[in-house]
Amino acid sequence: MAEPTRVLVASRNLKKVEEMRRILAEHLEAAGGVEVVGLDDVATFDEPVEDEPTFEGNALLKARAGVAATGLPTIADDSGLCVDALNGMPGVLSARWGGPPKSDDRNNELLLAQLSDVPDERRTAHFACAVALVHPDGRELVVEGRMDGRVIREVRWSGGFGYDVLFVADEFPDVTTAELSREDKDAISHRGRALREIAPLVAQLLA
Ligand code: IMP
Repeated sequence: MAEPTRVLVASRNLKKVEEMRRILAEHLEAAGGVEVVGLDDVATFDEPVEDEPTFEGNALLKARAGVAATGLPTIADDSGLCVDALNGMPGVLSARWGGPPKSDDRNNELLLAQLSDVPDERRTAHFACAVALVHPDGRELVVEGRMDGRVIREVRWSGGFGYDVLFVADEFPDVTTAELSREDKDAISHRGRALREIAPLVAQLLA
């Protein structure tokens, strides 16, 4: 039997690598079997500074670096929260909005302070996620997913991460995305949507 094609998911986040493996597995039989590996499974290399102004730019930057270092087709993502009353910020700066060192709690406190005078009807926002695939032969593709909703006034959680504790998605208006089951969040999330869109394209490109 032929060796499966190896694909690198350029992330150290085991949850992301697993999620990618799960979603890709549903589509990749057609590509003759694909083995998804994470950054911890390949030789260490310098990961690029994410300094592009767009999610797409940063996802491509990370995927190209993966290809250059490993020679493997590489998938990478970039995501963040875009708040309408802040002209789309924190956007690509989401992870470090509260300044170094990165802290979800400080990011959330700063966001709440910045929106303290913003009335409920103007607290609309969306999460965005770009996923890029770069092939060693030079082919590249990028897709984007989004999840619309609004930012509430105090944290509410029972799980989740990042800004989930402050975000209520349009599809589940009574709970924050930190209170959703993993399945419910995957079904509506920016990342879930982008991954489900790119999976068949990855299969085609690798076939
Ligand atoms: P990255 O794409 O892993 O670099 O994530 C960027 C930042 O965006 C994270 O540190 C979070 O602050 C925020 N973020 C991205 N996706 C989500 C999500 O699904 N829930 C909550 N916060 C998120």
